[in-house]
Amino acid sequence: MSYSPLLAFAGAATWSFAEYALHNWYGHVAKGRNAFSREHLAHHADSHYFAATSKKVRTAVAVIGIASVALAFAIGLINMLWFSGGFSVMYVAYELIHRRTHTHAPRGWYSRWTRRHHFVHHYTSPKMNHGVTSPLWDIVFRTYEKPGLVRVPEKHAPAWLVDPETGDAKAEYADDYEVSRRGRRRRPTPAVTEAAGPIHAT
Ligand SMILES: [Zn+2]
Ligand SMILES: [Zn+2]
Repeated sequence: MSYSPLLAFAGAATWSFAEYALHNWYGHVAKGRNAFSREHLAHHADSHYFAATSKKVRTAVAVIGIASVALAFAIGLINMLWFSGGFSVMYVAYELIHRRTHTHAPRGWYSRWTRRHHFVHHYTSPKMNHGVTSPLWDIVFRTYEKPGLVRVPEKHAPAWLVDPETGDAKAEYADDYEVSRRGRRRRPTPAVTEAAGPIHAT
């Protein structure tokens, strides 16, 4: 019997835990005392900022490479390839999913869930919802917060969320998000809007 699919699954599950552990403990709890943490806090200060892909690739190749060599000695080359394959596929998926939560509109239940879950972490409760691809480890470590109406500050709001005419969340996302703007009325009443014409963000 081949254990290959099990090893690939174990690799994927290991990434899932690493995603939580890196983000919460190495990213947030470390408070900028390592390069990853500094990059991550920069992403929080400006949601439109992402560490350069070349830097991420270099780090990933170094970390996965060293771990894979050690693993090859422990469990054999072929077994290591299956495990590292599962881990690496999930890692790349995480990078794409995280980037897209900020840059692309949701298309189905899963992408709607990832955005709401991640935006609670970014904009309302940074100590909660550290998982990006799943809520599993947030539930295990009691850092899961179910998203309600998520308030996204105007300067962080992704383009896909904002109605350019009003500066508010587009109608199709109004049940999930509210764009908060400092010192302004949030949603003018229809009567005011009609009298004053469309309100543009400045
Ligand atoms: Zn974070
Ligand atoms: Zn993010």
